[in-house]
Amino acid sequence: MSTIAAVSTPNAAGGIAVIRISGENALDVAERIFTPSGNRSIKDMSGYTCAYGIAHDNGERLDDCILTVFRAPHSYTGEDVVEISCHGGIWVTKRILRAILKNGAENAGAGEFTKRAYLNGKLDLTQAEAVMDIISAKGDRELKMAENLREGAAFRKAEKCSDRLMKILGDLAAWADYPEEDIPEVEPANLCRELAEVRKDLLSLVENYDCGRIIREGVSAAIVGRPNVGKSTLFNCLSGCERSIVTNIAGTTRDVVEESVRIGDSVLRLADTAGIRQTDDIIEGIGVDIAEKLIDSSELIIAVFDGNSPLTEDDLKLLEKIDNKKTVAVVNKSDLGICKEISEIERHIQHTVYLSAKESDGIEKLQTAIEKVLEINESSFSSAAVANERQKKCIDSALVCVESAVSALENGELLDAVNVLIDEAEQYLLSLMGKKVTDAVVDEVFSRFCVGK
Ligand code: GDP
Repeated sequence: MSTIAAVSTPNAAGGIAVIRISGENALDVAERIFTPSGNRSIKDMSGYTCAYGIAHDNGERLDDCILTVFRAPHSYTGEDVVEISCHGGIWVTKRILRAILKNGAENAGAGEFTKRAYLNGKLDLTQAEAVMDIISAKGDRELKMAENLREGAAFRKAEKCSDRLMKILGDLAAWADYPEEDIPEVEPANLCRELAEVRKDLLSLVENYDCGRIIREGVSAAIVGRPNVGKSTLFNCLSGCERSIVTNIAGTTRDVVEESVRIGDSVLRLADTAGIRQTDDIIEGIGVDIAEKLIDSSELIIAVFDGNSPLTEDDLKLLEKIDNKKTVAVVNKSDLGICKEISEIERHIQHTVYLSAKESDGIEKLQTAIEKVLEINESSFSSAAVANERQKKCIDSALVCVESAVSALENGELLDAVNVLIDEAEQYLLSLMGKKVTDAVVDEVFSRFCVGK
């Protein structure tokens, strides 16, 4: 493989920048553009040691830097790696990289260092994917999930299932290939039991996928309710800015206003909608239609009610419409006092919070209720092992094959047919771990990475 180089720190001015070189000739290339103080040779340096010195381009001094050597296989990529820490100016960093490229290295592609780590067996594919998740984590929970994955949580579970399937395939093959030997017959009932175990483990792998996905990508949420209950006030309070127009004139919000809002560690892709009521106003009517459609398409509904007045006909219709949705009811305007009849809502919606959006009072109760409705809790997110759609698809497909194999056994089909299905399940798990995967999938995984990682 060629020797590659890239700037690993962001393309912005900073205290220091790091340029990374990896490959067979990494030390040779570094030797040509860097002179350690005392004229030592970089090639004589041991792994995990540093040298202070000068980076230069064709005799022109560029910067004084620290150079660190990592010797194969004890490096991030598994190859010889040199990292040069220079002053973090965009221009000086570019000049050093250019000198490196002139002296025998090639520009690294997106994620190419991590791709090499994967190809050299330093990481499995799920761990490589976790590297990017660590970089893009925006909260503690996201980071913790990515760290779990980086430590091989998904890999270990998938490998356990894969080993089990491998053993079953081995038993089936031995029995089919050497009937004259004294190999015990494969009992369909035993096979079913073993496959049931694999199925259980696969289900546990995908179990908390939604919780993980919500923490990583957020959920679509709509604030709904009749006009004037305080939807826009709540929306502005949650988004921390005056995005939605607030007036006491019913029907002010006609279009949908959207904002990505972080509540605790959860991200809501939040939409403020037109107040839902019967109206003859054509434009307002279109807004009402959109709001009703959003109720159907959103994963979470925040239904707002005016706590200062009893439920109206429009409120009751809304309660009916959101009956089977994941909903938090917000009884707003608590600062004006809560009328007794409003507690009727609690009979309809389990998670009901009383707050004042205008005074930003009680918002933390809303956060707790949202996490309950979305079933986000410590144990579910820390056991969420599957990080993305690619991994989820592999496990889902393996599950379908295992379940079909069990049905085939129960229907008394030939073991040959069962064998094919188990083999297919095994292929999906190998693909999940990256043990047997097409170049296209690998390229797709690493295209999500940044250059320099
Ligand atoms: P929307 O039509 O449901 O979006 O309601 P708005 O957010 O536009 O608010 C309607 C009126 O209620 C405005 O005059 C707000 O200032 C007022 N309002 C909203 N929330 C509260 C609250 O918590 N307490 C009080 N006292 N007034 C509120």
